[in-house]
Amino acid sequence: MNGLLEAYAGVAGRQVISQLHQLADHLKGMKVVHVNSTRVGGGVAEILEKLVPLSNELGLDTSWEVISGDDDFYQCTKAMHNALQGHSEPIDQRLLDAYEQTNRDNADKMRSQLEEADFVFIHDPQPAPLFSLCPGRRGLWVWRCHIDASRPFRPVWRYLRHYVSDYNASIFSLPDFAQDLPHPQYIIPPSIDPLSDKNIELPQEEIDEVNEKFGIAPHRPFLLQVSRFDRFKDPVGVIKAYRLSRKFNPDLQLVLAGGTATDDPEGEKVLDEVKTAAGDDPDIKILLLPPDSHRTINALQRAAHIIIQKSIKEGFGLTATEGLWKGKPVIGGDTGGIRLQVINYHTGFLVNSPEGAALRVRYLLHRRDRLEEMGAKSRKFVLENFLLTRHLREYLTLMVGLLHKADYRIELG
Ligand code: UDP
Repeated sequence: MNGLLEAYAGVAGRQVISQLHQLADHLKGMKVVHVNSTRVGGGVAEILEKLVPLSNELGLDTSWEVISGDDDFYQCTKAMHNALQGHSEPIDQRLLDAYEQTNRDNADKMRSQLEEADFVFIHDPQPAPLFSLCPGRRGLWVWRCHIDASRPFRPVWRYLRHYVSDYNASIFSLPDFAQDLPHPQYIIPPSIDPLSDKNIELPQEEIDEVNEKFGIAPHRPFLLQVSRFDRFKDPVGVIKAYRLSRKFNPDLQLVLAGGTATDDPEGEKVLDEVKTAAGDDPDIKILLLPPDSHRTINALQRAAHIIIQKSIKEGFGLTATEGLWKGKPVIGGDTGGIRLQVINYHTGFLVNSPEGAALRVRYLLHRRDRLEEMGAKSRKFVLENFLLTRHLREYLTLMVGLLHKADYRIELG
């Protein structure tokens, strides 16, 4: 067994790795290409970072391509993202022209690679038109939508649907997100990598150093949200919840840790709103971290008493799983993928308002026994449901299934 997979056997169990090999044996040597729109920042990049080398170790010839565009392109795809998550936001023709042109330019660069691939996974709307721009394609193409598209703004969905309906299949994170599309749709929730810098065990000294660096008092309760500065993540709502919680826990500290993804042009504006809402409260720390701050985020998640992810829309919310894996209950917005991860009174609490979040913070800080107990359950829940190995197994199963059109049965030992 090779190095990376061997290391995963230590966390997920040998049986899980042996199943991956059995599935991969049916796909050996096949060319697989993943395409998304950013190499760093955000959940998709986080997942591909490990999914790609692992599937290479299993004998598939896997690569990861990133499309790039100008400001108009990112403005367009951000508006699309917002519209798919329900904002009634028509998109200017000028921006749509930039979207199409960027895809044509990127197709020119990667056409031969995509056309030769046995499988192409296109992540999210940004590179969706590549399918129609590769007429010589010989493989199977899958559109992987990471967004909560359960109630999209119809005109924008109709526009995008025209690009994705001819794909061979699509993948959504939750059954609720599935759409009216003329091909098989698969439900595969995302995952975290337990061996990455973001999730690996850390020595206590490193956690202490991070606390010290950011002026966090370790003996005082600490609430953490790690997120891009995006309105759907509701950072201002988190500040409101913190202020309400302070009435009962005057010692409470809040850390909002974020950065900007290269494909998110709205980050700066939201950050300004957050700074205004925070005012000059010395117990609110707004941390702007460089994109490679994985160990720092890991340390913050381990140092925090409670993790919050108060999103009002969320495709999945990897940060919730990351928090649960560190044995912390998560207070999460009652939406999208967070509902898969946060089970009331077991792994955390689902909330619908700053008031609701504050109530749960108060409960958990008051009942430290429950906080500990829920934290232990949380870690186990991730071990069983949201590790990378489960995710990879489902991708491999989907590929074998598509290849053999489900007339083929594989018994996993
Ligand atoms: N993240 C990070 N730095 C930041 C903000 C987020 O490394 O400043 C990571 C975070 O730890 C998580 C991912 O980016 O792994 C965000 O994924 P999620 O699904 O929570 O949200 P998305 O950004 O994809 O909407």
